[in-house]
Amino acid sequence: MLGVLINLLYPALCRVCSKRINDFNRNICGDCAKKIKERLPPFCAKCGRQLKGEPELMDTCPDCKKDMPYFDRAWSAYHYDDPLKSLIHDFKYKKITSLSTDFTDLIINFMKKYNIGRDCQLILSIPMHPDRLFKREINHSDILARNLGKRMGIPYSGNTLKKTKNTLLQSKLKRGARIKNLHLSFSLKDSSGVRNKNILLVDDIFTTGSTVNECSRLLKNSGARRVEIITLARGDNA
Ligand SMILES: [Zn+2]
Ligand SMILES: [Zn+2]
Repeated sequence: MLGVLINLLYPALCRVCSKRINDFNRNICGDCAKKIKERLPPFCAKCGRQLKGEPELMDTCPDCKKDMPYFDRAWSAYHYDDPLKSLIHDFKYKKITSLSTDFTDLIINFMKKYNIGRDCQLILSIPMHPDRLFKREINHSDILARNLGKRMGIPYSGNTLKKTKNTLLQSKLKRGARIKNLHLSFSLKDSSGVRNKNILLVDDIFTTGSTVNECSRLLKNSGARRVEIITLARGDNA
């Protein structure tokens, strides 16, 4: 009721096309949501990279064959192009945290198609070092994962994984340097919380996968049964 009233007084406008939206909890209208390009199979059976070939193709990409990741499976739902690219930017840097609701809708639509996270018992996010969190004010991965957990009815923990070393920004480094930069930079609060669990790790963008891989290494070495990754977006050439 209150929502209806607020919407009458201050109508919600789509962040992309400025058209009026009837749902005041959303930031993107239905038409613009449809313009967000979904990634299509075939995917690498490990890292989720798009492969060339028939959609039913089940294969791993050359990178995964050469250097098998620690996670069991990574999925990325949408192409990292506009309008999604600028929406993610608004979410992270302009701190429009309400976009996490729209993003969760998008992630859930994708997850349903491929039965992702069906046996998952715990949702985790990528932690931020306290110094960076202080500067950034929000941890976007934490907001997204918490929202997803709530919607799926799966327990979420924001403090199981910890970032103990304040590393250089991954985006500024090349692949080899990224892996070195991250080595032993995460820790686990309590390994009994992850033992024998199927875990879904949530982040916004999959770039080289070195961050999620380092977290997966820690989780697997601490007894996690299965680690799956879901990210909202991935660049075409990543
Ligand atoms: Zn729109
Ligand atoms: Zn791969």
